Amino acid sequence: MRDEQPVILDGGHGEGGGQILRTALSLSLCTGRAFRLTAIRQNREKPGLRPQHMLAVLSAQRLGSAYVEGAQVGSRELWFEPKQKVTPGTYFFDIGTAGSTLLVLQTLLPALLAASGPSSLTLCGGTHNLHAPTFEFVERVYLPRLAQLGHRVSISLLRPGFYPIGGGKLTVQVTPTTETQPLEILSRGSVRSVQAEVLVSRLPMHISQREQATLMSRLDIPADHCHVRALTDCAGPGNALLVQIDTDSGSELFCAIGERGVRAEQVASDCADEVDRFLLADVPVGEYLADQLLLPLALGSGGRFLTTAPSLHTLTQVDTLRAFLPVQIAIEQKTDRAHLITVSPR
Ligand code: ATP
Repeated sequence: MRDEQPVILDGGHGEGGGQILRTALSLSLCTGRAFRLTAIRQNREKPGLRPQHMLAVLSAQRLGSAYVEGAQVGSRELWFEPKQKVTPGTYFFDIGTAGSTLLVLQTLLPALLAASGPSSLTLCGGTHNLHAPTFEFVERVYLPRLAQLGHRVSISLLRPGFYPIGGGKLTVQVTPTTETQPLEILSRGSVRSVQAEVLVSRLPMHISQREQATLMSRLDIPADHCHVRALTDCAGPGNALLVQIDTDSGSELFCAIGERGVRAEQVASDCADEVDRFLLADVPVGEYLADQLLLPLALGSGGRFLTTAPSLHTLTQVDTLRAFLPVQIAIEQKTDRAHLITVSPR
């Protein structure tokens, strides 16, 4: 679509996971630049494209009428070349497994935000997955930050979906804007509340009760701030813990997903450990939100935020952004635990 050189990416660089692919798809759609990705997900146990990544590729292909080579499950190499600007419209994509719908959304949303008109997107698959944003994280943490930039996006959960059955469904309404604001989140301020929720579907009640008890004692949460929510409309069993922290500077949400073979107390305790680390760091932006904010800031008007030590994921994301965009990203250590990330589009 453009005369610019294609971007050449090594999928084994840094984190070496699926994020390089997802970010490349988003940036290719937004900039019109083609890319070649080799050694896809080289550092993962099952390298190459998995069904969830395939859906990201095929749905991105639809949005940008892209020419694609290498889009097969297991493929280690991909060529992606958008042929058109992103077409706004009504889209429906079904992963067909319990793969994360929120990671597919993460791929498509920047492109829909850059389109010339509103879009509506429905996605089917998992909504509460390990190693992925949960529905609530996107609804209560990520989208409110995008709203601060000026983007209008609303999301609704129609049915939760857990591994391995999946069957979840969500819908997203996107209204693009051409005028975005820079983002500045430089201090956390006071913690206003810590609230926990244990979601459970088709599992014995004692699991959620043990998780509730562990969260309450570990995080010193009163009973009226820690609820169990029995999900009645899931296709299969599932269990997720959500701890939301509301501060003067916005909300963060930490999540753990119950797994077969992992004790309920352990699941809750791992979640509490994450919350403790975040609170101790006295920063407004947690590790996951940090890597997710980089792309919208780089494509928009930039910004600065204070966060925990950058994960390998964040560092890899910085490199992928630099490969596509003339952006400066600086990471400066401020205290033992706090780092300032500044994104300056040129
Ligand atoms: P893949 O597993 O497909 O190879 P990856 O390993 O590159 O992908 P992950 O580490 O699974 O990617 O992270 C994918 C995205 O999910 C990142 O943007 C990360 O911030 C987000 N993410 C992971 N866990 C959470 C969580 N608990 N809360 C919010 N976001 C999360």
